[in-house]
Amino acid sequence: MLQYVEKVYDSVVEKDPGQPEFHQAVKEVFNNLAPALEKHPIYRKNKILERIIEPERQIIFRVPWVDDDDEIQVSRGFRVQFNSAIGPYKGGLRFHPSVYIGIIKFLGFEQIFKNSLTGLPMGGAKGGSDFDPKGKSEMEVMRFCQSFMTELYRHVGPETDVPAGDIGVGGREIGYLYGQYKQLVNRSDGVLTGKGLEYGGSLIRPEATGYGSVYFAKEMLKVRGEEIKGKICTVSGSGNVAQYTVEKLNQLGAKVVTLSDSDGSIYDPDGISGEKFKYVLELKQIKRGRIKEYAEEFNVEYRPNKRPWDIKCELAFPSATENEIEREDAQTLVDNGVIAVCEGANMPSTNEAIDIFLEAGIAFGPGKAANAGGVATSGLEMAQNAMRISWSREEVDKRLHEIMVNIHKTAYEISNIYGDPGNYVLGANIGGFRKVADAMIAQGHW
Ligand code: NDP
Repeated sequence: MLQYVEKVYDSVVEKDPGQPEFHQAVKEVFNNLAPALEKHPIYRKNKILERIIEPERQIIFRVPWVDDDDEIQVSRGFRVQFNSAIGPYKGGLRFHPSVYIGIIKFLGFEQIFKNSLTGLPMGGAKGGSDFDPKGKSEMEVMRFCQSFMTELYRHVGPETDVPAGDIGVGGREIGYLYGQYKQLVNRSDGVLTGKGLEYGGSLIRPEATGYGSVYFAKEMLKVRGEEIKGKICTVSGSGNVAQYTVEKLNQLGAKVVTLSDSDGSIYDPDGISGEKFKYVLELKQIKRGRIKEYAEEFNVEYRPNKRPWDIKCELAFPSATENEIEREDAQTLVDNGVIAVCEGANMPSTNEAIDIFLEAGIAFGPGKAANAGGVATSGLEMAQNAMRISWSREEVDKRLHEIMVNIHKTAYEISNIYGDPGNYVLGANIGGFRKVADAMIAQGHW
């Protein structure tokens, strides 16, 4: 890293020492920016790095709610509005006990560059709470969401900040949040994306992140004269992103042999397709059960507390959470002959794991490019809301596909320009950064 970039990075660590996930996300981006800063001195002159690492606004708030035993519980809510240089703030809400300001800042920082790569006018933000929806009753989840929105509504709006889902926030939670927002402001505006189809949601939004990740993998494979068809794939997680990654992989003729949750993973060498895939959707979306039940139902191996990465595969789709591929996992994947790793989750690979993939020369699709289909389709939902129309499934899927092809093209072309062809980490970081940096310069010093 250029000495100057290192100095700015050190200042981040010094200012906020207790936020390792945020430091990791900044380092991953900064590692690639030195050549762009050397080529374009205007960025350094305008102190873009110093400005871009500081959120425009951070909101932390109390979320009191009453549980089913009539006890008052107090959770903590967050919204970090990181950067609005290219459009209204946009990024999901995460409800998970691990949430604190460092997680929200890492996700918000990633979101700036991801949103820029989609080509749509969306700034970067993220939010959430340390509330754990797991094991809560329907009414507890509803009361929590209502209380959360009772503060959040002051800070969001269709032209200001448009949140969406993430871990622990799916269609059910978005519905309760939206209902409360409407109660408070007396307006039906598209303030959230991921809404139900009956009240302004977009077709393909639930599928978008998973489908987009597979479209990105397809493009990476095409460059190498390979295709998805016939490939053995491992997928981690079993939530929204994992489910629709599996669906698209099945449609394109691959075989998916693993899924996981935070308790362990399943290995089904015959493939998770047909009735077995339908079972996963029902288990996770309706019963809200554990992936272990799949192993019991279909008599396959359940691996408690184990991730899928020791299972031999050609394509790997980490789609659960951050830092789920560590150095050793990456080495195992490479030793077992993996051809491509495509990040459906945000920052699932540690920086050491990424180095191993890049050194091995496999196709590596970083999250900010590979999982951008979710937010891109949220952008399409915003467009449909603004025009008061609904596009067909085919129309939205076509646009999503085009956006993923374009993101791949941008990242690939930039990796060529900067002399490291096929390094999508470099291509995505510089590609995402330059548009935001240019917009910041154009709008003066703020
Ligand atoms: P869901 O809540 O639907 O699913 C999350 C899955 O990951 C669950 O299977 C969950 O298991 C597992 N998981 C969560 N935390 C951990 C953990 N600490 N260790 C092991 N497993 C864990 O979330 P999504 O599918 O929406 O999100 C998955 C990833 O994709 C996240 O990184 C998210 O930021 C990213 N992403 C999501 C987008 C979207 O549109 N939803 C868009 C872009 C990125 P369990 O049930 O046991 O908690």
